[in-house]
Amino acid sequence: MSLVLTGVPVLVVDGPEADVAAELLREQGAVPVGWGDVATRIGLVRIPAGTETTAADEALAWAHRNGIPVDDRRPREERKDATPDATSSSTVGEVVLVGGGPGDPELITVAGAKALAEADVILTDHLGPVDLAEDAAARGAELIDVAKIPYSRQVAQERINELMVERASEGKKVVRLKGGDPFIFGRGYEEIEACTAAGIPVQVIPGVTSMTAGPAVAGISLTHRGLNHDLTLVSGHVPPDSSKSLVDWTALAGMTGTLVLIMAVKNAGAIAAELIAQGRDAATPAVVVENASMPGQRVTAATLVTLGETIEREGLGHPAVIVIGDAAGHIAELG
Ligand code: SAH
Repeated sequence: MSLVLTGVPVLVVDGPEADVAAELLREQGAVPVGWGDVATRIGLVRIPAGTETTAADEALAWAHRNGIPVDDRRPREERKDATPDATSSSTVGEVVLVGGGPGDPELITVAGAKALAEADVILTDHLGPVDLAEDAAARGAELIDVAKIPYSRQVAQERINELMVERASEGKKVVRLKGGDPFIFGRGYEEIEACTAAGIPVQVIPGVTSMTAGPAVAGISLTHRGLNHDLTLVSGHVPPDSSKSLVDWTALAGMTGTLVLIMAVKNAGAIAAELIAQGRDAATPAVVVENASMPGQRVTAATLVTLGETIEREGLGHPAVIVIGDAAGHIAELG
């Protein structure tokens, strides 16, 4: 059970999948509330105003007055017909997950920049275009640096979810600015689930992932005509011998194309050794792109067998993308 919504009442307005909504809310620890037949049918806690005749607009006005989030399951057409009072559920703001790109402030999308410009609240961490969040703060948006939340990763994630839901429930437009793309090793899905469970509308604006932008700014083409027809994106945050690893390293070692690793600086030596042990050629090119698109960008070439020692010798560190494969043997000279 999540800390986020524990004990928080959320008004469920009947419609297709109201039962699914109620179940999701319960899973998050929230208390789904409602009125009339639907309350009986799916076991909602009855709202105080609730009689068998309470209309949606009355219930929404009640939720509005009490600052209670709404999960409105009516078909869209019906919602448009609602009276102005009923749309008072618009006290609920929204959350926009914005993929910020690898770090260069120019590598955010136009839609992402627009969302930042319109945001009341921005939650950011240390990767991606943090400067843009600071610009938004300078014009009055609230800036929350979630990297400073002093908890373990898991609890910090719950606190992030809670902050997004809290601020959006106050009617604010919340941007969750994420490095790269929200759905590439970014926990974007978890954040969306937390918002949905709280009845907060949420949108995703895709971003330029560091897994492709990092190699690109370094002059490496991840697919190279005549060299490879496949490309695999892998997180290296867990060492290959860990019982927590979800990666089939044997299968990867048997592939001939390009591997792109993130969160792998610490485990790169062990990963390279595993790939070689499982059959990948020790002479396969391997390139580390550190601080891609940012000041201090460094591109360091090695081979699979020298990858670990190269990282150590050169003092390469976070954040870095590692490209392994014949395509990494060709680094274009850029401008
Ligand atoms: N969602 C992000 C990835 C988050 S995981 C994306 O799509 O890019 C964080 C990892 O991404 C870092 O550990 C690092 O491996 C990689 N990364 C992010 N920004 C980077 C950058 N500017 N240069 C190199 N690697 C970067």
